[in-house]
Amino acid sequence: MITGEDMEALGYKYFTEGQALTLNDYQAKASATAIYPESAKITYAAMGLANEAGEVLGKVKKIIRDGTFSREDILDELGDVLWYAAALARDLNSELSEVAQRNLDKLASRKERGVIGGSGDKR
Ligand SMILES: [Mg+2]
Repeated sequence: MITGEDMEALGYKYFTEGQALTLNDYQAKASATAIYPESAKITYAAMGLANEAGEVLGKVKKIIRDGTFSREDILDELGDVLWYAAALARDLNSELSEVAQRNLDKLASRKERGVIGGSGDKR
């Protein structure tokens, strides 16, 4: 098990009471700033998620244009992606940990069945 001390030794600096920030803790804290009309539930967060994913690409694109990129800029945009993912999960009455576990279960199943490569959402 990785402890808060391990994380600190590795240079990670975001903790909740000595432990690494969990996905659900993050979601709860981010939820305090997820303020949009009830009528825009799901759609607002889904659109924001797509927009922020594009912003990640915009930062990565600078590798082509400038031959370099800012790790910090990409991480900031990735955080925005996470914020919208947390909001969308909330709008779907789910916790981020459920989203993460479902994804891991899906990938493990694909690997076990030898279909980790290829395409198709339901393989
Ligand atoms: Mg952004």
